Amino acid sequence: MGGRKRGIEIFVQSVSDGSMSDEEVIEYLAEIFENGLDSSETVLLTKEMRDSGTVIHWPEEMSALVVDKHSTGGVGDKVSIALAPALAACGAKVPMISGRGLGHTGGTLDKLESIPGFRTGIPVEELIEQVSKIGVAMVGQTEDLVPADRRMYALRDISGLVASVPLITGSIVSKKAAEGISALVLDVKTGSAAFMKDKASAEELAYSMKSVAEGMGISTTCLITSMDHPIGHAVGNSLEIVESVEALCGRGPDDLEELVCIQGGLLLSSIGLAVDQGHGSAMILDSLYDGSAFSKFLEMVEAQGGDASIFDSDQGMFAGLGLIDSELYSTDVLSDYEGWVSNINAVSIADLCLKLGAGRIELGGSIDHSVGIIVHVGVGSPVSKNEILATVYHREGKSDDLHAIKGAFDISKEPQFPLSRILGVV
Ligand code: URA
Repeated sequence: MGGRKRGIEIFVQSVSDGSMSDEEVIEYLAEIFENGLDSSETVLLTKEMRDSGTVIHWPEEMSALVVDKHSTGGVGDKVSIALAPALAACGAKVPMISGRGLGHTGGTLDKLESIPGFRTGIPVEELIEQVSKIGVAMVGQTEDLVPADRRMYALRDISGLVASVPLITGSIVSKKAAEGISALVLDVKTGSAAFMKDKASAEELAYSMKSVAEGMGISTTCLITSMDHPIGHAVGNSLEIVESVEALCGRGPDDLEELVCIQGGLLLSSIGLAVDQGHGSAMILDSLYDGSAFSKFLEMVEAQGGDASIFDSDQGMFAGLGLIDSELYSTDVLSDYEGWVSNINAVSIADLCLKLGAGRIELGGSIDHSVGIIVHVGVGSPVSKNEILATVYHREGKSDDLHAIKGAFDISKEPQFPLSRILGVV
């Protein structure tokens, strides 16, 4: 084996056993970030990361039904929180291992932890038991599961080493391979608020992840989707849980519902629970409208120690209201112009959320789960002068930043139309 490959093995072992300092790990990651890895080195990195912890083996009778999805990261991206329970309601088994916020993008774990009591650090035996019993669990990397990625991911986040094809491939595919899944959908984001800014680099990442995942025996489809403006209306941990619950009750915004249904449909057809993607998407949509996806979500919240009583499906927009901190201040952002919304800059929205305290600035830092932004308009919405574009939920004394957020909204004099976020399939 070449010296470089031996180096990768030793690196991953030293990350997991703690024998490398944070500075040394960052230096090694920076070298990969700068110079890349070839495809056989990327496969090795991914396998070593997977094997840094337990690899789950499911009982024969359910192993063909075990699926997952993962996104390369977006703003307002709460697809997993609605999709995982919906898939379970349709008969799939979903042991989802997610990450925390990375760079300007939010993390599924941080969002879930805004539910009082919800435990994301559950041991692997409990994960297996929960998925076998109720069909879904959403957890983080632990000492058991992909510990190497837990440390590498956190260090990449604070050192600007995220947007790298081999590092993202290793991070995402190792987690999915450790879950012992049969089928995977990867949502590869492209656009101004994605790590992959242009479609060509998103496709490069999609081909890399698909070939590594399929080489590990996982049937994989990558969707290329646009990430220029936030998904849905809510950005910020608790607010995104509330919107996810809305989607689980059939009241979600159209773009979120589309992403949930298409990705779910692809997975259900991959494992033979649906005849094709269209049929699978219709099954997922039914689960959102007939209450079965929401019931699965409540079962999962209870199983993981969360307080499910705060969610009430009959309360319309206020389902999950118990999550909203009554001590928050709210400030409305008004439009200076009349016209049609032509762009909503997701990076500006995410940066403000970070400043409000919704994301981490340093390793292991704490976050404020309650702060965030509700964007009331979408691309294509007609607006009048002084109409509310967004409401910012914040703590005291953030007024300068709140002012600047107006610049995130472009208003055109010409009518604009929303486009599907789905740009391609690999
Ligand atoms: N999501 C992950 O899990 N890892 C990455 O590197 C990027 C997005």
